[in-house]
Amino acid sequence: MIPLSRPPVDDEIKHAVLAAIDSGQYILGPQCRALEAELARHTGTRHAVLTSSATAALWMILRALDVKAGDEVLAPSHTAFPTIEAICFAGAIPVFVEVDDWYTLDPKDAAAKVTSRTVGVVPVHLYGQPVDLPAVQNVAARHGLWILEDCAQAQGAVWDGRKVGGFGRAAAFSFYPSKNLPAMGDGGAVLTDDDETAARCRRLRDHGRLNKDVHAEVGFNLRFSELQAAALRVLLGRLEAMNDRRRALAARYAEALAGLPLVMPAEREHARHVYHLYVVRTERRDELATFLKGQGIQTGIHYPVPTHRQPAVERFNPPALARTERLVQEILTLPMSAQHTGAEIDRVAAAVRAFFGG
Ligand SMILES: *Cc1c(COP(=O)(O)O)cnc(C)c1O
Repeated sequence: MIPLSRPPVDDEIKHAVLAAIDSGQYILGPQCRALEAELARHTGTRHAVLTSSATAALWMILRALDVKAGDEVLAPSHTAFPTIEAICFAGAIPVFVEVDDWYTLDPKDAAAKVTSRTVGVVPVHLYGQPVDLPAVQNVAARHGLWILEDCAQAQGAVWDGRKVGGFGRAAAFSFYPSKNLPAMGDGGAVLTDDDETAARCRRLRDHGRLNKDVHAEVGFNLRFSELQAAALRVLLGRLEAMNDRRRALAARYAEALAGLPLVMPAEREHARHVYHLYVVRTERRDELATFLKGQGIQTGIHYPVPTHRQPAVERFNPPALARTERLVQEILTLPMSAQHTGAEIDRVAAAVRAFFGG
């Protein structure tokens, strides 16, 4: 069986976790402080604030931006539901935007959906591909909106020589076990250049606490584990190599699948794609998935139900999005992680070729 993704746990990581166990400190201790400094340096931002998930990071940033009931926030429909959920949980109204040719937020559609109530935009670097950041910045500047980057799938991705995560007011990252920088459980971070946003997120993740006994506002328990931080510090040192490995495997797929009636992922100009997911597109998607399963190859669909069609957001009465609704019927995610072997990628590609009779 070839899995969709495979975790990178090895002895070096196990030893780092065991050392953290022996330290006797388990929440927001020295490992977390060191990882925060290392993450900020890696992304090129002033601050990193570790938290329990990217969902928590998104919510804390929205609270720090003082999002209020009735505020509208632009976001792509084609994303993981947590992007939208955080907007709703912060009390705002998600305004669903179409995809562009790269499966990311379409800046033209975003601009067309700005109203007097719009306060910000949440571009998502989906599958590891950066959105058209200058175009999004242009829309934001024209309408006085903040930008919150959802980098959950794009740790280490680059636009014009700069890492994603530093192009807006703040950014959310995820350490979910299949993401490019994976923990052995849930985890996330806020990255920002803004001192006030960082301070507010630090307070929100620890019950709105000013100090041990005084709570300035209602936050929540969204803290982070020393054991996970110890493991992530080892993996952060390997992130560039792991992303290079994903890019090499993507190139291997591209070569082996060339010439088939299949739309392949492509890297947009100015972007360094980090292939969190390797997503192909075909009208025969369901047949292909069934065929690959029969060959012992796991596939996925990210995501089969567009977020604007989720029952959870029915009350917003979102209008139809034709391109997104068609796209989700045709996408299929093939196995991809830094731990897959070249031989596994070749086996998947051979099976896909066999399906198309070539
Ligand atoms: C995984 C993911 C999230 C949520 O991350 P968690 O750490 O699981 O909360 C948010 N947005 C996108 C685009 C994701 O892929």
